[in-house]
Amino acid sequence: MLIDGKVFIVTGGGSGLGAGVARLLHGNGARVVLADINEDAGRAMAEALGNNALFVKTDVTSETDGKAAVSAAVGSFGHLHGLVNCAGIAPGEKVLGREGPHRLDSFARAVGINLIGTFNMVRLAAAAMEKEAPDEDGERGVIINTASVAAFDGQVGQAAYSASKGGVVAMTLPIARELARHGIRVVAIAPGIFETPMMAGMPQEVQDSLGKSVPFPQRLGKPEEFAALVQHICENRMLNGEVIRLDGALRMGA
Ligand code: NAD
Repeated sequence: MLIDGKVFIVTGGGSGLGAGVARLLHGNGARVVLADINEDAGRAMAEALGNNALFVKTDVTSETDGKAAVSAAVGSFGHLHGLVNCAGIAPGEKVLGREGPHRLDSFARAVGINLIGTFNMVRLAAAAMEKEAPDEDGERGVIINTASVAAFDGQVGQAAYSASKGGVVAMTLPIARELARHGIRVVAIAPGIFETPMMAGMPQEVQDSLGKSVPFPQRLGKPEEFAALVQHICENRMLNGEVIRLDGALRMGA
């Protein structure tokens, strides 16, 4: 699917990886709905992009909000061809606590936003994409979800986060197989460590040492590098049902 002229929803589009994706899609001629719970960040990004970008305050865990984001895309731009799910919450003290497997509320919150929120947007967007006219290959849309290397290589204190991202990995293939008959592809990206506001809470020396632990290129990833893979997935229709690590060969170990 070529991006030019297509209509996308980007969840978490107000910040970090989602903002990078929104910039790239919009820069390549897409019309973009930024669906984010953070009103200030989402509005600022929509204003920065200008024409053909709009913000819809969206909690991805809410059916009502998800439907409103889809309706905004179809109502304002006439179509929905793509969904890039970047909304999520981080592991770590600030958001989830360091209590690891002992906290039920932290676990439910991580799974609720990162996994169920992603699924909520997938099902609502797919229902709209199914109504699009197929192109010559029968393609109607593309869905890209954001997992994490924490799905494979979780750290102490990250049981909730790892479980939420492991769910995103596990649902990729069955949903891709199910939506294939509607001409909708589903792919997940499992990022390593990227320079985003999510990471900004970490002390600089920790960020530097994490960067050095990446075999190559020995630094943290940049949102543009994540967005470049989103573009490739959109444009390469043999990519389907796959989870792609984007981590510079990082393996954290115990
Ligand atoms: P970020 O904090 O910069 O952006 C996340 C965005 O999601 C924010 O704008 C936030 O407002 C939004 N959001 C949070 N909860 C929401 C909700 N319920 N509904 C709608 N929007 C909500 O973080 P980021 O680093 O850009 O992360 C984006 C995604 O990538 C997340 O799913 C994260 O788990 C994943 N990820 C990030 C990294 C990394 O190193 N930055 C690594 C692996 C995976």
